Amino acid sequence: MTTKEDNKKARVLRRSITHSKGGACVHCGWNKEISVLHFHHLDAQKKVCPIPRLCKDVVIGFCPIQVLLVEADKCDLLCPTCDAYLDWQERNEQK
Ligand SMILES: [Zn+2]
Repeated sequence: MTTKEDNKKARVLRRSITHSKGGACVHCGWNKEISVLHFHHLDAQKKVCPIPRLCKDVVIGFCPIQVLLVEADKCDLLCPTCDAYLDWQERNEQK
């Protein structure tokens, strides 16, 4: 399993991926705390694995970083509010 040190490395990795994607919510521009931003998959069908999980997998050598980068490319950065709202919208559209 992952150690505290691995978790820390995973957070650093996640921050740098978030930063490389603009470091702000694509909907409202919120950027007060980069580590709070969510990776929202544009197409849920193409989602392989959640980004935070992949960051951990890369850190422990379980998965190559290319997989993480490809997955991050399928996502938009959203703040928690926009992410929750979009999820709500998607759920309600499906009904
Ligand atoms: Zn937002």
